[in-house]
Amino acid sequence: MTSVIIWNENIHEIENQEVKKIYPKGIHNCIKDFLSKDNRLEIQTATLEQSENGLSKDRLRNCNVLIWWGHKAHEKVSEKTVDLIQQRVLEGMGLIVLHSGHHSKIFKRLMGTNCNLMWREYGERERLWVCNPAHPICEGLEPYFDLEMEEMYGEPFQVPSPDETLFTSWFEGGETFRSGLLYKRGNGQIFYFRPGHEAYPTYYNKNIQKIITNAIHFVKAKNKMLWEDIHSPTPKSNRSKPIENIRKKGFSVDHPTKK
Ligand code: ZN
Repeated sequence: MTSVIIWNENIHEIENQEVKKIYPKGIHNCIKDFLSKDNRLEIQTATLEQSENGLSKDRLRNCNVLIWWGHKAHEKVSEKTVDLIQQRVLEGMGLIVLHSGHHSKIFKRLMGTNCNLMWREYGERERLWVCNPAHPICEGLEPYFDLEMEEMYGEPFQVPSPDETLFTSWFEGGETFRSGLLYKRGNGQIFYFRPGHEAYPTYYNKNIQKIITNAIHFVKAKNKMLWEDIHSPTPKSNRSKPIENIRKKGFSVDHPTKK
């Protein structure tokens, strides 16, 4: 089973009546509903206002894929939570960052850039083009599909060059945008996926649902590797001892004391 946590800041859906009409149980539960049709997934949700932002160390340890939706309250996510997620990504946990999560602390931390972009809220048509039909995340899609109403995101998108661009978007107003980007950080796969503005019913779209489902199976942690297995400061076996019989040459300078 693949253990998935859908994290949502869950503020627009509570504060704004129009958003609440579209996502009465919150965006996280809308995503949970369509993912529940996949019996290979074990799905939980977490929200900002829960203790430890809903993401304790133990919860994250058992998580294979974390899905992230945030917009208004990126700054309210604690540094401790960001540290824990980053560590789990380096260990191998998959991370799917949706829409305005481009400005989340965790995405900016993992990218190392400001992740700024152009944007416009006009409810315009978005056409998503599939860049690599052979990629598992694009499985089952036509060459392109449209979303009748979306927020526009435009270039330049100030992220590092991705390992692969899986989708590009064209907007009615004329702009284009790299909409589906894959990155690897440590052992973890990261998928950034652009659509999903809270004022439109994007997460009810069958193609969007298919892409998020496919992405989970692509980015999921493939083993149970934990940080201590990768980089323990006190390894059980002395890994720095040479495996061949060699004689020490040259000289050593002082190192900072390793703790
Ligand atoms: Zn938005």
